[in-house]
Amino acid sequence: MYPSDSDFFGSDSDVGFPRGDDLDFLDDDSEADEDRPQDKRIAELSREDIMQLQFTDEEAVYRFYKTYAMIHGFAVRLDEVKRDSDGSVIMRQIVCNRAGSRKEMVKKDERIRDHRPLTRSCCPARIRARLDTKIQQWKVVSFYEEHSHELVAPLDVSMMPEYRTFSVSDKAQAKNLHDIGIRTCHILGYLAAQKGGYANLPFNQKDMYNLITQYRKEKVKGGDANAAISYLRGKAGNDSYFFGKYTLSNENRLENLFWADRTSRIDYECFGDVLTFDSTYNRNVYNKPLVIFSGSNHHGQTVVFGCGLLLNEDISSYKWLLETFLEAMGSKHPTAVVTDGDLSMREAIKQVFPSATHRLCAWHLHRNACEKVKNSGFLRDFKQLIYANVSVEEFEVRWEDMVARYNLSSNSWVIQTYEMRNLWALAYLRDQFFGRIRTTSQCEGINSLIKAYVRKKDTLLEFINNMETVVSHYRNNERVAEFNSKYTAPVLVTSLPTLEDFAAKTFTRKMFREVRKEIEGACAMNTEVVIQDGEKLYFKCNVFGVPEIHHVVEFDRVQGILRCECKWFENRGIPCMHIFACLKHQHVEVIPESLVCKRWTKNAKSDFMKSNVDDPSDSDKVLKCRLGVLGAECSRLMDLACKNSSDFVEAMNSVVDTITKLQKRGENPRNANLDDDCVGDPLVVKSKGAPKKNSKFKQQRKCSNCGVTGHYNKSCPNAPN
Ligand SMILES: [Zn+2]
Ligand SMILES: [Zn+2]
Ligand SMILES: [Zn+2]
Repeated sequence: MYPSDSDFFGSDSDVGFPRGDDLDFLDDDSEADEDRPQDKRIAELSREDIMQLQFTDEEAVYRFYKTYAMIHGFAVRLDEVKRDSDGSVIMRQIVCNRAGSRKEMVKKDERIRDHRPLTRSCCPARIRARLDTKIQQWKVVSFYEEHSHELVAPLDVSMMPEYRTFSVSDKAQAKNLHDIGIRTCHILGYLAAQKGGYANLPFNQKDMYNLITQYRKEKVKGGDANAAISYLRGKAGNDSYFFGKYTLSNENRLENLFWADRTSRIDYECFGDVLTFDSTYNRNVYNKPLVIFSGSNHHGQTVVFGCGLLLNEDISSYKWLLETFLEAMGSKHPTAVVTDGDLSMREAIKQVFPSATHRLCAWHLHRNACEKVKNSGFLRDFKQLIYANVSVEEFEVRWEDMVARYNLSSNSWVIQTYEMRNLWALAYLRDQFFGRIRTTSQCEGINSLIKAYVRKKDTLLEFINNMETVVSHYRNNERVAEFNSKYTAPVLVTSLPTLEDFAAKTFTRKMFREVRKEIEGACAMNTEVVIQDGEKLYFKCNVFGVPEIHHVVEFDRVQGILRCECKWFENRGIPCMHIFACLKHQHVEVIPESLVCKRWTKNAKSDFMKSNVDDPSDSDKVLKCRLGVLGAECSRLMDLACKNSSDFVEAMNSVVDTITKLQKRGENPRNANLDDDCVGDPLVVKSKGAPKKNSKFKQQRKCSNCGVTGHYNKSCPNAPN
């Protein structure tokens, strides 16, 4: 890979030798003379010229011959040497690197790999120089010009192993790109583009892979798990609200790992009502399953609550993970959980989050359907049915229709999916709040981001770093959305401007757009009061032109509570168009407080920070909030104080003063078990690939007559007749 000969002189391989063909390294203190070989370019030197050359030292001879070789298309290596009685070199022979022949014995049978191709071919080309002690100069004593082989074309010289090398900047760029999760082949392409093509790279693809491999080994010296744990420990040192925990096997190897940083924990406090799990496989060198805990923030964007690596996918691993998650989140339970349907995860959720509603990820479900049922008509109708906002009775009718229409009543996947309909059909789940999770774009988004940033062969440390890149990507999106929501105002377009204006001021921009859709819908609705019961009103709403479909809305004027039978608000936290139609009918100009879902408002996060700073009842929460508020102020300080040096010095001094003052008052509490010592790498789990798609439904079907597996009702031996 590197020109090993140059190591002889202890020179850094990054420095390399001059590629120019001027003899500027020759000793030259006399005046110029037209005929002296010193004044010619190396390419023009004849054998006679070279025989007259003199050099200051041995290294100069080597550099000369190496440059000569590069120009002519061969490579060199150091050969014979003679020393005087003091041990200093007085003669050196440098040969074409194809001189000589391979000495090692060829044993055909025992080798797995092919023999390295032969390069030596007894080439006689060489230079020999000797120190002339009288003048203290090195003189060429013999020079063979002819080779026994073809020389390499000038353009291809850079492909010879002897001349391939990385410059300092190429190395640094490659390492930086690797650190942010770029694949090695893309790094190579990037550097090639910089230099105007692959032909101009002074190294090849294999060199690049070797460089990266070596770099990765350096990073995890002393064990990958150790490096990963000490990295997390370092994070915990900078972020006192960082949480990390792991378990070890009997042989002191890493088994399970969970971590969440400060922002994740604050996000969960604000938006932890709906929790999504995603398991990914084969995304690290140990083939351990990765679980990502995520949810959606007030802008409907994905927020990551934490990440876990599991030894395996059994119930006890998942239980450990969920319990650790709860520990990190101050025991706050989610109200709803969305998963991809893994059976042991489902069981663990039942045990750890007994009160949470469980729902299957519609994106995963639809993807499974695509694999199991190859019928585009069915797939389209099935997708509609997942999201159909209808009553349970209507769902059943539609399902039967659909199965009959596509003749799928005997399809086992269809049967099994129907049996779990209460886990995926909106008709069964619409009383439950799921936020925007049902749109599934979140799940899809996480999967594609992980694919982009996390590489299959990642070590633990790289994997943790790459996950941080993914998370910071999301957090940056939140900052942008937060800014747009706060500092810009939408143009009002509906014919109910007071309601629309109120919504624009209250909700984040993304949620405002959804509310506006409902307001627009309300404009085209007919509403009539059907019953008046004291202060309670019952309305019937229908869309203009569709009188046969109507929804009933209940309006309690004293309490300011509106309820619609479509349950849109219960499910998504957004008032439906029927409710807006009633507000319009009653000339209500603001959205009643009971219909403003806090988690979708602009202040969902900032209010939380402010209101909880001094709540003595929950010390954990207080700590969290103080950190959030402090963090926000500190980053403002950083922005201001970095602009000029006097501001910087002033800010620095007062920060350091404050820190020393506070440090004297008490020590920081320690973090979970991140302070433990020495952790062995996890064993590589034999790859079993991504779980087979149907494994989620492998529950064996029981006979409905006798309850035994292995046969169905029709063939039941215990049937009455
Ligand atoms: Zn040769
Ligand atoms: Zn999913
Ligand atoms: Zn409604």
